[in-house]
Amino acid sequence: MATRPHPTPAPTPAPLRRMLDWLSPARRAQRIDERLAARRRLFDSIGELLFASRLAPSPRNYGLVHSYLSGEDVATSVAVAEALRATGTLSEAAAARIADGQETTELGPDTLARIAETLEARIGECLGAAGQSRRTAEQFGSAIEGEAARLAEDPAATIARIAALTRDAVTATRLAEAQLERTRREADSLRRDLRQARRAAERDHLTGLPNRRALEAALRALDAGDTPATVALCDIDDFKQVNDRFGHAAGDRVLRFVAGFLERELGGDVLVARHGGEEFACLFRRADARAAMARLDAARERLSARSLVNQETGLAFDRVTFSAGVAPLGEDGGAAALAEADLALYAAKHAGKNRVCAG
Ligand code: GH3
Ligand code: MG
Ligand code: MG
Repeated sequence: MATRPHPTPAPTPAPLRRMLDWLSPARRAQRIDERLAARRRLFDSIGELLFASRLAPSPRNYGLVHSYLSGEDVATSVAVAEALRATGTLSEAAAARIADGQETTELGPDTLARIAETLEARIGECLGAAGQSRRTAEQFGSAIEGEAARLAEDPAATIARIAALTRDAVTATRLAEAQLERTRREADSLRRDLRQARRAAERDHLTGLPNRRALEAALRALDAGDTPATVALCDIDDFKQVNDRFGHAAGDRVLRFVAGFLERELGGDVLVARHGGEEFACLFRRADARAAMARLDAARERLSARSLVNQETGLAFDRVTFSAGVAPLGEDGGAAALAEADLALYAAKHAGKNRVCAG
């Protein structure tokens, strides 16, 4: 019987080889193994942290540590990292506070850096997914070209291979799409967390007022249309005595009351911020020092005429009053005006308290 020599098979082009390799069952199994191994590592790390912190493996604690280690929920992640950094462990009490969303996430440089790191990692993953799907498309293109060149050799087999390649490419594209969609959802949730963290970082948690950071941002954001602007610093008189005589919790209630009182009395065009302790800063956006002083003095007068009742005992507190210093916002900026207002506040205290002085 005559034998025909076998045609020498054309060498498989490199992109096709890579494509076939990527699509091969062995590589797919390897990818699944890697994913399973990553899950096992996450599970082990969660267990390790729970036991090292002597936390009960409750659904709440598991969820918390999972959020922290997977970085899925930035706000929780940051709060857990802060607790670990501060105390070296995660106590049941801290875990409960964080899970209840009560933990403050002050947006300090460390916190910001951590959020930025998480975001960077997610953006990296997103770019990785986009790169992978671009490579898949390129490999598919080269593979099809390679097959097309061999069409004449064995049309039926080539078309079958092209059909198989197309099917696999469609599957790979669907996987990439699903991964991009997951990343997009995660990025949206990160953006929400960041917005929330930013808002939380600009609020004082006791009084609900904007804090010093928010005040500084408002001072920076002032524009020419806001002149004349004036700042004031108000400090509750003899507040230590309120704490000493009625307890810290009563002191907190007085602080909350005075915060709300100043906001209500001074009106919407004045930013009232907690400047620290029992001190409040006011930014009058469209009032010169004289007008601001008159408005603040009227508020001071009304507060000193009120008799606050201690909710716990039903008995009246002694009079609650404040002293204040006022200064115009000049060309030297907010910090200089606040320093001048502080000097005026000192003068008000020195002159006998319960009064407003100008800088
Ligand atoms: P002065 O009239 O000179 O301002 O006297 P003062 O007692 O108000 O001032 P001092 O600086 O001696 O004391 C301020 C007190 O405010 C001491 C501190 O414990 C208290 N304080 C600061 N922040 C808080 C808080 O968040 N809650 C409570 N309850 N007290 C606070
Ligand atoms: Mg003070
Ligand atoms: Mg005081």
